[in-house]
Amino acid sequence: MQNILFVQTAFLGDLLLSIPTLKNCKRLFPNSKIHLICRAGIGDFFTEQKIVDHVYEVQKNNSATYKNVRNKLKDISFDLLLSPHESFRTMLLVKSIRAKLKVSYKKWYQFYAYDKCVNRPLKYPEALRQIFLLTEVSDDIRKKFSELNTNTDWRIPSDVKIPDWATASLFEGSSKSSKKVCLAPGSVWATKMWPKEYYADLASSLIKNGHEVVLVGGKSERVVCDWIKNEVPQIQNKAGETSLSELLKVFSEAALLISNDSGPMHMASLVGLPTIAIFGPTVLSFGYRPWQNNVTIKQIELPCRPCGKHGHNACPIGTHDCMKLIEAEMVKKNIMELLG
Ligand code: SF4
Repeated sequence: MQNILFVQTAFLGDLLLSIPTLKNCKRLFPNSKIHLICRAGIGDFFTEQKIVDHVYEVQKNNSATYKNVRNKLKDISFDLLLSPHESFRTMLLVKSIRAKLKVSYKKWYQFYAYDKCVNRPLKYPEALRQIFLLTEVSDDIRKKFSELNTNTDWRIPSDVKIPDWATASLFEGSSKSSKKVCLAPGSVWATKMWPKEYYADLASSLIKNGHEVVLVGGKSERVVCDWIKNEVPQIQNKAGETSLSELLKVFSEAALLISNDSGPMHMASLVGLPTIAIFGPTVLSFGYRPWQNNVTIKQIELPCRPCGKHGHNACPIGTHDCMKLIEAEMVKKNIMELLG
């Protein structure tokens, strides 16, 4: 295969979970050029880290960007097109691109654009669901899936190790001897955010215990990070100041990340940074677990969980107990265990 196109226009976290599939494309077809269509603002990271060779960015609700990508690709005939993104709009984009074989998941309208539509294997976490698309073109991947331990629910982090062929790891960077602890208090969705007061409490304790604390996140998370920095002035606030590659470097030098269920949690998996991940309105059975082995999940059982596929901007029942009842002391105990 000379040219492989991967189409994933979802949020950063979802695209980071595509990295195991992209790594497998490189492994199976080492002489191919890998092309990626993704959401605006994310693509550079994928070429800088040499995960793909070419990127094309689209912006949601901006048809000119889609037209631009169509024009750029009109003279390329791809050997293989893979897409784990099931939106109608992505299907229309894929329809306009030339490829010998187009593979995605089954949905009633997908047959309009794709040659092969496989059942999305929901019993697996998202990273494995995406690699599963390659079973259409690779005996090796089919064999690897047949050998997976089916007594394990791969969506739940447990003692079973993620096999080497399926990891998101780009390089091993985390250092237990480091004094640096990162906090990622933001999220696209307000209900997925652990209270900022609790993060400030953790930051204060970590500083008192001689740690270096770094706040990380995107530009839109600057407000919550500024609030925490104001409460604990000794911490560093890098939110909105780092590119994704720079953030990866920060993570590679740190000992621990404490994060909501958001993009930084998935970024930490790329360098094996041990992570405490706090889950509220979403649950692990959705399949979006941190895709690495060094992870501690903090969550509590409540009858209202889960309350939506992604989270909401306000708690539907007005309590936000899924987050508030995970007290800072409970997370501090995990930090003590992990950092000693
Ligand atoms: S309804 Fe329940 S799970 Fe959803 S945000 Fe509120 S407390 Fe959390």
